[in-house]
Amino acid sequence: MTETDPAVVAPACVASADVAGGAGASPRFGGRSLGMSIATLLSMVATCQAGAGEARDRSLDAEVTREAQRILDRLDRIAGQSSGGRVHASVDLATSTITLEFGRDLIPQYAGADFEHQMDLFRHGVTEAVRKYTPPGNVEYKFDGREIMHYFPEQQQEDADARRRGIRGSGMAMVSAAHGYYRHQRKAAWLWQRPLMNDVREDLVTPAYAEELKHWIQERGRMPVVRPRTSSFDLHEESGVEWWQVAAKYHLEERFPANPEIWNSPVGDSNRDYDQDLRSRPLLANHLGADVALHLHTNGSDSEIPSGTRVVYQTGREEDRALARSVLCYMRELITGQDDYSGFNVESDPRADNKGRTV
Ligand SMILES: [Zn+2]
Repeated sequence: MTETDPAVVAPACVASADVAGGAGASPRFGGRSLGMSIATLLSMVATCQAGAGEARDRSLDAEVTREAQRILDRLDRIAGQSSGGRVHASVDLATSTITLEFGRDLIPQYAGADFEHQMDLFRHGVTEAVRKYTPPGNVEYKFDGREIMHYFPEQQQEDADARRRGIRGSGMAMVSAAHGYYRHQRKAAWLWQRPLMNDVREDLVTPAYAEELKHWIQERGRMPVVRPRTSSFDLHEESGVEWWQVAAKYHLEERFPANPEIWNSPVGDSNRDYDQDLRSRPLLANHLGADVALHLHTNGSDSEIPSGTRVVYQTGREEDRALARSVLCYMRELITGQDDYSGFNVESDPRADNKGRTV
């Protein structure tokens, strides 16, 4: 915690940050103002033993399955998927893990941004369905019994290669404002990545917070920060909106013309620019050897029930888990310290998820 003003650090958060050790960047993220900037951003059942080490409740599983099926029945399919199909949900009460089992009919032609959005819809829905009874944990998805990447060995290999290369070490951080205006080739139109939810569009909410977070990391953490999207108010002529509103891919094309591997990476052809935009952010972090990559999302929902703050880290990375715990700890302290937000839900533990593609 050498770079954090001890006067503004809650003891619990100090302890949590220390877990990160020397290699992580979590100590740099101490500081009241950093958390304050994020604060405005985000908006028992009886059990029976079902087997070794797993506690399940059949009625809970049935209820969560109904919610998952409801989402599946309304889901807009993408290339490669067929309509219909069933989903089964189960909740392991020992670990709080929610598992969704789909058939092969939901495997897409390409597991890119549109597919990730679909899985987010399930995650939000089943998480809220479980929350009524027990604190929800991670959500895992199976397709005919296997994880999605089983069906996309090239993508899986690419992620594995990126991890093996060891791409950190520059002392920089990347703060990515999620989404942005992009060109949908097949529809021959410029579109937002996220729909309007409760009069808020995620594409337009994240940039201001990313800019403020960048400021505080640089000031408090003394760590240079790069942003994949630009803050420029100039007109992006091709789309007709201002540059700060467009997706990262187009800005990175301007800024790194000699590195098309960042912004023009190989993807399926179902929604090329969207998929390339999603990938351009971790690819930029890899290119620069960033030590930390923070992705800001607001996770809109058409339900009024979901509320609160969560932090997701890459499955299997203990160092990132420690940083995520530290971020949550500071956010909880700073958000619930506000009179109007004293009851605001800030999850106690970060969630693991495979967000590869491709760090
Ligand atoms: Zn998002």
